[in-house]
Amino acid sequence: MQAYIHVPFCSSRCKYCRFASSNLDTRNIKVYFKYLEREINNFNLKTEKLNTIYFGWGTPTSVDFSYIKNILVLLKNKFWFSKNIEITLETTPQNITENNLILWQKSWINRISMWLQSLNNNTLKEIWRENKEVILNNLNLLKKSKFKNINIDFILWLPHEKPWEKLNQIKFILKNYKKIKHISVYMLENYNYPKSWDNIRLSEDDFNSEYNEINLYLKQNDFDRYELSNFAIKNYECKHNIWYWEHKNYIWFWLGSHSFIDNTRFNNSDNFKEYYQNISENLEKNKEFLTKNNIILEKILFQIRGNWIEKKYFKYLDEEKIDNFIKLNMLKISRNKLKITEKSFSLVDYILWEIIL
Ligand code: SF4
Repeated sequence: MQAYIHVPFCSSRCKYCRFASSNLDTRNIKVYFKYLEREINNFNLKTEKLNTIYFGWGTPTSVDFSYIKNILVLLKNKFWFSKNIEITLETTPQNITENNLILWQKSWINRISMWLQSLNNNTLKEIWRENKEVILNNLNLLKKSKFKNINIDFILWLPHEKPWEKLNQIKFILKNYKKIKHISVYMLENYNYPKSWDNIRLSEDDFNSEYNEINLYLKQNDFDRYELSNFAIKNYECKHNIWYWEHKNYIWFWLGSHSFIDNTRFNNSDNFKEYYQNISENLEKNKEFLTKNNIILEKILFQIRGNWIEKKYFKYLDEEKIDNFIKLNMLKISRNKLKITEKSFSLVDYILWEIIL
């Protein structure tokens, strides 16, 4: 079982952000954790032991760490922790200090996921993030720390970056910070950034060439692409991500979140007032029973993100379209699994919606 804890607070709002996050208002933070603790305490569904815990969504390290520690203690009292439990804490470079690293490490956290996004100061200023000097300084602290399992997030196609600049940033980070064993490479999503950025980003052609080179570089450096946007050195794949993509039971806490246990989805209200009220009254979560077809569709969607679809699901796909994509070298069948070819990763959504019956 995996648990995801949403911490929807950030010190400032990035211009491309599509998450519900709030500023660091002390009163709001206190209220939020009060209800979050209650939600965990109220949880009474059948569970197995916890294999992964993930603190994410906003900036979990922007709130006083005692809040996170209390949640961990609460989870430890409520569930069994598996022997090799993976506990990830998302952070910005700004929140990495020597003291924090020691505190996190002593509090069962064993995986750090840091948002870096870019090393270009004009880009960072444009998106409202820390500058390059802060990032590099704090990466050095991370390098000296006891953490061995570290992920870095990059966002591609940001404003002000020149052709090949992102590839060079990734090369620089991997050469100088060998402790980094996992890289997430996301593309700036189309619908949320200021439209003025269109004039100060790479052209689509330049971007696509660079994107392919980045994939190639990571592959040549033993970073296996185990999911569309995620690359890892062997044995450093994020257990939390894999658990979710394998469609196993999970529990997520907080506003608007949903859990999945034994083919049933349990949904929290996405309205603050209603959520707080439901928790106060310990009302049962809104239940949605998934049919066999729903589950198959979800499994296909998750499997394609991991770049393979099992043979047993081929009958739910359009054979003729698959044949066409194979002829175009966009799909291939290897070891009884349907896979996307390297050159077609950026078109995965299009391919998927074409082949699902
Ligand atoms: S740190 Fe993440 S959640 Fe917070 S504002 Fe930036 S993108 Fe949004």
